[in-house]
Amino acid sequence: MSKVVKFGGSSLADAKQFKKVAEIIRADEERCYIVPSAPGKRFKDDTKVTDLLYQCYDKVSAGEDFAKAFAPVRERYDEIISDLSLSLSLEDEYVKIGTMFRDGADRDYAASRGEYLNGIVLANYLGYEFIDAALGIFFDNKGNFDADITNACLGAILEKTPRAVIPGFYGAMPDGSIKTFSRGGSDFTGSVVAKAAGASLYENWTDVSGFLVADPRIVDKPAGIEVITYSELRELSYMGAGVLHEDAIFPVRSANIPINIKNTNAPQDAGTLIVPTADEKSPKYLITGIAGKKDFSVISIEKDRMNSENGFMRRLLQVLENHGIFPEHMPTGIDTVSVVVNSHDLDGQREKLEQRIKDVVRPDHFEIIDGLALIAVVGRGMKSKKGTATRVFAALSHADINVRMIDQGSSELNIIVGIDEKDFENAIRVIYDMFILSEQ
Ligand code: ASP
Repeated sequence: MSKVVKFGGSSLADAKQFKKVAEIIRADEERCYIVPSAPGKRFKDDTKVTDLLYQCYDKVSAGEDFAKAFAPVRERYDEIISDLSLSLSLEDEYVKIGTMFRDGADRDYAASRGEYLNGIVLANYLGYEFIDAALGIFFDNKGNFDADITNACLGAILEKTPRAVIPGFYGAMPDGSIKTFSRGGSDFTGSVVAKAAGASLYENWTDVSGFLVADPRIVDKPAGIEVITYSELRELSYMGAGVLHEDAIFPVRSANIPINIKNTNAPQDAGTLIVPTADEKSPKYLITGIAGKKDFSVISIEKDRMNSENGFMRRLLQVLENHGIFPEHMPTGIDTVSVVVNSHDLDGQREKLEQRIKDVVRPDHFEIIDGLALIAVVGRGMKSKKGTATRVFAALSHADINVRMIDQGSSELNIIVGIDEKDFENAIRVIYDMFILSEQ
């Protein structure tokens, strides 16, 4: 069985980090397929190579000489190569990139060279084969990732290549041109490679030891999450707790491959294991994580006999859809409905929206209330234990926090509460104390 191992930019920022990465890879011979990001920041105010490449592209587009604009990128790789004492030269690659720039290659091509060059260096250092992602990862004509073709082609290549480095972040369009995923997209590449390889595990190495139960900027030294299911992670990432690229779970999830988030700078730490299913009866804590977000608004509508007016909801939702507004939650009463939306979705169209809703559904009362924060309390354990909601609300009420909205997902995996934005941080702290501190 093979493992696919992805290293983020901070894990490959310089030769010292490359050495740690090689040690990690060599410690387990199942670590067969390696997906690198481009070199990241070496210190706080450093610039990631991907950003250097975007800057380089902008400068060349504005008429600056390629060699001058590309020099900071070149320096990063040449330093890594020399510090690792490799007998590798990227000279030919630099010339090729210069030619492509002069021939009008686009921003995606420019950005992708960060991972491409890093892949060549890492493959050389490890003695692994280098596979250009443009040969195995494909987009369709509309620029959407093409899972079927990728899985077939990449799968066939990997079958013939027992150990390889495949750069993250990009693939090829049907015409052969390069396209990148969104920022942080090497996580997605790793997942795609894991699926194509039929891997037993997708290891994602970064600079933290996995996910934390709550945001460390809000809770002092929160506990780590040892095991989380894909569904739980979705509930948490949706609320803004992203360590991993949002799309990265989908390819491996469909193939039932677990992900292990690990720390390159503390490889002995277990990290977080993301699994298709986990024991609901005995998780370490009753809740797995707490996440939240501010900046929500409630569109509050009242209308007598709303519940017997056929098509009311459809017409209301149609108006929202026409204005590009996505309802996050929709708690309803007999004659009332509250639609919770991202406040910034309302920017510049509040009056038009109000008028349209009044025309289409003729409410007795219409109001937009701003300043709502949502908090998701997520845990597979709450399904088999009574009293989770009681404890959430007891914690909030002891802290004198008013609950303005309640929503429990149908899977009984989460409880979402809407509170005033000013109570946001405090609410997370008291829920954390109630479920984690009291159980430690
Ligand atoms: N290097 C790219 C970025 O900075 C992709 C990645 O690191 O995953 O966004």
